[in-house]
Amino acid sequence: MRMTDATMYARVLAGDSAYNGRFFTGVLTTGIYCLPSCKARKPRRENVRFFPTCESARESGLRACKKCHPDDFAHGADPVLESIESLVAEIRVSPAVFADARAVVHSSGFGQTRAFELFRKHYHTTPADLLVRARINRAKRQLLATRSGLLAIAGDVGFESLSVFHDQFRQRNGLTPAAYRDLSEARTFTITLPESYPLHYLRRALSRDIHSVSERLTGDAYVGAVQLSSGPAVLTLRLAPSVIHAEISAGSAVEAHSVVIGLLGLDQDAAAFARLAKKLGLARLVAGRAELRISQTTSVFDGVLWSIIGQQINFPFACLLKRRLFERTGTLLPNGLFAPPTPAAVAALDPSELLPLQFSRQKADYVIAIARLITQGQLDLESLRAMSATRAERTLLAIRGLGPWSVNYLMMRALGFADCVPYGDTSVTSNLQELFQLEERPDIEATRRLMAVFSPYRSLATNHLWQFKQTTPL
Ligand SMILES: [Zn+2]
Repeated sequence: MRMTDATMYARVLAGDSAYNGRFFTGVLTTGIYCLPSCKARKPRRENVRFFPTCESARESGLRACKKCHPDDFAHGADPVLESIESLVAEIRVSPAVFADARAVVHSSGFGQTRAFELFRKHYHTTPADLLVRARINRAKRQLLATRSGLLAIAGDVGFESLSVFHDQFRQRNGLTPAAYRDLSEARTFTITLPESYPLHYLRRALSRDIHSVSERLTGDAYVGAVQLSSGPAVLTLRLAPSVIHAEISAGSAVEAHSVVIGLLGLDQDAAAFARLAKKLGLARLVAGRAELRISQTTSVFDGVLWSIIGQQINFPFACLLKRRLFERTGTLLPNGLFAPPTPAAVAALDPSELLPLQFSRQKADYVIAIARLITQGQLDLESLRAMSATRAERTLLAIRGLGPWSVNYLMMRALGFADCVPYGDTSVTSNLQELFQLEERPDIEATRRLMAVFSPYRSLATNHLWQFKQTTPL
């Protein structure tokens, strides 16, 4: 998509770092070129020329700005991002070293405002939230790998008391630390839902794929075929207003628990987003579904398949293509469901085999090429979850076949990043138009501006927009 000079100049005036790398600003009077986010004095419109690359700016006789280092950015170096990433790595290894969010900010070397801004931009969250998640993840590992008592683990990962550990753990995982430890010996487990969890929206999410051959929802009974690290398994859920009973037919219940938490979206901060929407005077966006969550795909690869198959076609047709791919490359289980295909099964296809299934040549190429990147070890889907959002986005955008819509879709539905917008999504734009009562449907620029108010919860905002004009599910 080509941007106009006026658009680019507006981004320069706004100092919009989201546009870094998408163009470079040459200032003819000073002879330098900059990133759109450069903090130097804003050039006058008539003195500016735009360049697609650093090279083209240099060829016109311009020099790189010493303030914003456009060449470093173009070559992937990003010292500020790297320093935040190494701080986060440290937090995740030794969360107890950081007493609280203040300690995190202090260690960052940035002022409080800037540190918050960087955590929001690169990790879609606050230092306090990232610290709690790091404590819980560390505790999970210790629960499974050691025989230490709960009090010792709570202290070891930095919780100030056993009750805080217990509450925070239960809220995000739907069970107690002790019950989590028992998963390693279990086939079944029970998840406690928060009060007013919108089960009717979960039912809608679990039955939205109208052509699915890998999952089935009958009343309150859900059966899904999933791929765990040990191979295909059947996940059975019984939905009830305050609890979900889960059973896995094979493999690890620890893994199955993480799939279920994802399906339920239990570790998303739905209440915080609902408060923000109300504060913005947009209570109508969340009315009747304040606790709505994003139901995550059962694996990252499943998210990859959706994000490529779903490009530029309507949803029912995407479901149909997915069904045909599953029937072709998935594993048929005794209960008649197909477990989703592994990357290896898709990588083994030839693009011509997908054409009779009504895949476009391009879609067939993209799906197979990305599966091959995974099987050849050039793309590690699980490692994307641990990356900063910025790094995950750059990694994914560099892959042929993944544009901004697919990347953001994948990040919000399969990787759990909280502040994504699938730009160009027609349902998002038409519902934004309705929500804000606009004369015309917002373009990408306007979408970006309108969605900015929902940061750092833009993924949840997107999910609410998807539901906005639909009837309330039963
Ligand atoms: Zn500059």
